[in-house]
Amino acid sequence: MVLDDSVSRLAGVGPKTVTALAELGIQTIRDLLFYFPFRYDDLKARPLAELQDQEKALFKGVVISEPILSRFGPHKVRLNVRLLIDQVAVIATFFNQPWLKDKFVPDEEVAIYGKWNEPQKRVVGMKVITQQTQNELDPIYSVNKGIRQKKLISLIQSAFKQEGQNLTDVIPESVRDHYRLLTDFELVRQMHFPQNQLESTAARRAAIFREFFLFEAQIAQLRQQDQDPDQGLVLPYQLTPLRQFIASLPFRLTAAQKRVVNEICLDLKSPRHMNRLLQGDVGSGKTVVAAIAMFAAVTAGFQAALMVPTEILAEQHFQKLTHLFAPMQVKVTLLTGSLKAADREQRLQAISSGRSNIVIGTHALIQTGVDFKALGFVVIDEQHRFGVNQRRALREKGQNPDVLAMTATPIPRTLAITTYGEMDISTIDELPAGRRPIKTVWVKTNEANQALALTEQQLAQGDQAFVIAPLISDSDQVNLKNAEDLYQRLAKYFGTRYQVALLHGQMTPLEKETTMAAFSQGKVQVLVATTVVEVGVDVPNANVMLIFNADRFGLATLHQLRGRVGRGQRQAFCYLIADPTNEVAIKRMEIMTATNDGFVLAEADLKLRGQGDIFGDKQSGLPEFQLGDPITNNNTLLAAHQVVQTMFETDPALSSAENQGLAQYLRAQQAADQFD
Ligand code: ADP
Ligand code: MG
Repeated sequence: MVLDDSVSRLAGVGPKTVTALAELGIQTIRDLLFYFPFRYDDLKARPLAELQDQEKALFKGVVISEPILSRFGPHKVRLNVRLLIDQVAVIATFFNQPWLKDKFVPDEEVAIYGKWNEPQKRVVGMKVITQQTQNELDPIYSVNKGIRQKKLISLIQSAFKQEGQNLTDVIPESVRDHYRLLTDFELVRQMHFPQNQLESTAARRAAIFREFFLFEAQIAQLRQQDQDPDQGLVLPYQLTPLRQFIASLPFRLTAAQKRVVNEICLDLKSPRHMNRLLQGDVGSGKTVVAAIAMFAAVTAGFQAALMVPTEILAEQHFQKLTHLFAPMQVKVTLLTGSLKAADREQRLQAISSGRSNIVIGTHALIQTGVDFKALGFVVIDEQHRFGVNQRRALREKGQNPDVLAMTATPIPRTLAITTYGEMDISTIDELPAGRRPIKTVWVKTNEANQALALTEQQLAQGDQAFVIAPLISDSDQVNLKNAEDLYQRLAKYFGTRYQVALLHGQMTPLEKETTMAAFSQGKVQVLVATTVVEVGVDVPNANVMLIFNADRFGLATLHQLRGRVGRGQRQAFCYLIADPTNEVAIKRMEIMTATNDGFVLAEADLKLRGQGDIFGDKQSGLPEFQLGDPITNNNTLLAAHQVVQTMFETDPALSSAENQGLAQYLRAQQAADQFD
C-alpha cells in the first residue's frame, strides 16, 4: 500500500464508505491523512467554580443516583442522572441518547463532556468520555451521513499507523527551520492526535503555512509557464463587426464599460499573454463586457469560453448571450454536467469542429473529452470559486489563450497578488444610469410580518420577491428542512393571491431550471431560495429581497444577494431580518443599511474579518482554504508568498535536492488534473 492508493485499500472501507469519503473530498490515503479536524473539544477537566455559564467543558464526577429515562414529545427522550462534581451535586441531562443509560453506575466515576448551565447547576451532556480517549483534545471532523466521527477517526488512525512514516516533506528543511514549522509526519500526527494544547497550536500554525505554501507554489508555477512574453496569442479582431455588435446592444455602454473594453481589446491584440482581472460591483454590467471581448476573439477567428460556478448561472448567461448575439453570426453552446449523452456528444462535436464559437459552461468545460478547435480567449466568472488547478485546466484547453477573470468583490492589491498571482486589473466603477439605490431596512424577527406586509404591497404593484431562507447549520439537511418550512409558511401566508416556489441546492438541474424559468417569466411571484441564488441571477422585475437570519451571512454574500434586485426602473427594497447579539454582526447589519457601495462594503468586510469576524464567505472574492484564512492569517500568507518567490527565483526548475519534495508534489498535482 502507498499513500496515493485509494482509501478502499484500508480495512473496513467498502464502496459505501468510499462514496461517503469522496463527498468529503477524500480519495486517497494521503487525502485522508490531510483531512483535518475543524475544532477540538477540550477534555482537560477544570474546576466547576472556574466555568462560565453556557461554557463547554469536561466534567469528572461520581454517579450518585440511578439514571432515569423519560419521554417528552413524540420522539424525544431525556436521560437524567445526578453526579457529585467538586463536592457539588449536579444534574447531567442527555437528550435522545437513551443508550447512554448503561454508562452511569452509582458510585462509579464518569467523565462527560457538555455545556454548563450555571443557574440550574446542570450539565447538558454531549458525550460520555471513555478511557480510550486519552488525549486532552478530542478532534471534531466535519462528516456526512455516510460516515460518522468514530469511524472516520479510526480510519485516520489506521492510515497513520500504516502509512504515516512514508510522508515526505514538501517544505524544504531550511524553510521549516526558519519558520519553526513541522515535518509533514509531525504535522499530521499533531493535527489529528495532539497530546496537549501546545501541540495542537503548533500543528495548526504549520498546517496553515503548508497550505498557503503549496497554493503559492501552484500559482508561481502557473505564472512561470506563461512568463515567456511571446507565448501569448495575438487576436487581431475586426473593428467593424465589433462596432456593429456594440451598436446592436439594447443600451449604451457606460463610460466605465467603454474604458475596460478598450483595456481588454488592447491585451487581445498584443502578443503579451493577457492575465486580467475585471472587477465591478454587482449590476455594473460585467457580462456585456465579457460578451464584447468574446465576440472580438470570434472575429479574430478564435473560439471563446466562459466558465461559471453554477448551472443556474451558466443557463442564464447562455440565454442572455444567445439573445445579445442574435443579430450576429455567432453560435453559442451551453455545456453543463447534466446533459444527456447524445446531446452532450453533439455539442462536443460542435466545439471540436469549430462550428461553435462561444462556449458557456460550468466545470463541465474542463473535463477530458472537451476539445476546442481554436480556443483563444477564456473568461472565468466569480474566479475565486475556482481552484488554481481548474483555472489552469481551462487554459490548457487552448494554446495559451488570453484570460479574463471577473469578480464582483474588489480586494486590495497585495491580497490579489498573493491569492491570484500577478494580474492586470480593470475596474468598472460606475453603474448604468437610472438605477435607483436599493432601500435596505433591518427588521427584528418579531417584526417579520411587517416586512411581509410591505412585500405584499410591492407584489400588488406587479413586483416579484426573493426570500432567502436562513442558513441555520453546517448541514445541508437541516438547512433544506428550514427552507421547506419557510416555503410552507409563505405559501400559506400568500394563499391564492400569489404563487410561491422553492429553489434549493439539492434539486436536480432540470428542477432548478424550471423553477427559475417560472420566476423569470413572472409565473411565480415569490421565490424562496437557499443561497443558490447568490450569484449572478438576473430578474429585472424582482424588486424585493427578504433575507431571514441575515446575521448568518457575511457582508459579501449579503451584498451579492441584495444585488439581485433593483435592476429595473422601480424602487427596490432589501429587508434584513435578524436579531444579532454580537457586536460584529450588529455592525454588519448597520453597514448594510448605510451603503449600497460594494467597494465600501468590501473594505468594511476586510476590516471586520481582520478583527476576527468568521463570516468570510464564498462571495468574499477570496479563494477558500481548508484551514487558513487569507485575512486573519495574512502574515502567514505573505511569508509563504515570499518564500515561494525566492525559491522560484533561485531555483526556477526546482532541481535542488531540498526542493525535490515540492517538485514532486507539483508534478503529482498536474498529473491529477484530469477532471473526469
Ligand atoms: P454584473 O454581472 O456586473 O453583476 P450584469 O452584467 O448582469 O451585471 O448586468 C446587470 C444588468 O444591467 C443586466 O440586466 C444588463 O443587461 C444591464 N446592463 C448592463 N450594462 C448596461 C448599460 N450600460 N446600460 C443599461 N443596462 C445595462
Ligand atoms: Mg455577473
